[in-house]
Amino acid sequence: METPQLSSLYQQLILEHYRNPRNKAELEEKTVEIHMANPVCGDEIRLQLRIEDDHIAEAKFIGQGCSISQAAISMMTTKLQGASIDDALGLAHRFTELMHGDPEAAKDRTLGDLRALQGVSKFPVRIKCALIGFDALQEALKKHASEGSA
Ligand code: ZN
Repeated sequence: METPQLSSLYQQLILEHYRNPRNKAELEEKTVEIHMANPVCGDEIRLQLRIEDDHIAEAKFIGQGCSISQAAISMMTTKLQGASIDDALGLAHRFTELMHGDPEAAKDRTLGDLRALQGVSKFPVRIKCALIGFDALQEALKKHASEGSA
């Protein structure tokens, strides 16, 4: 009987982030911004980062869409504040593994609240929802690297 309890606990965490998204605001001092949309579901995000040296000094987003996409973005931004670019890319990689059903990733505590989304891996159509934030993050870091700005 443990599994249903666990999944309802996770469900609550997802809804909690959806209703009270963290870091959902305009970031005036952004150094990079990426817009991304998932037309299949109607999810949309503008991810804004302030990158200083090799760190994400601040991460904020503006977005709309389903609870999975918005909760995932909210959870992601809480992990990004002050993270090094390498750690951010590592997190994106780990979360992608989680979405592909990797049992090792499911045990990885560094994912924090993001582990609540592991059940999404069983619903291929929703995986795009969960990954839109990290897709935007990877694009943003790519853009940052190609512009070579400080
Ligand atoms: Zn969605």
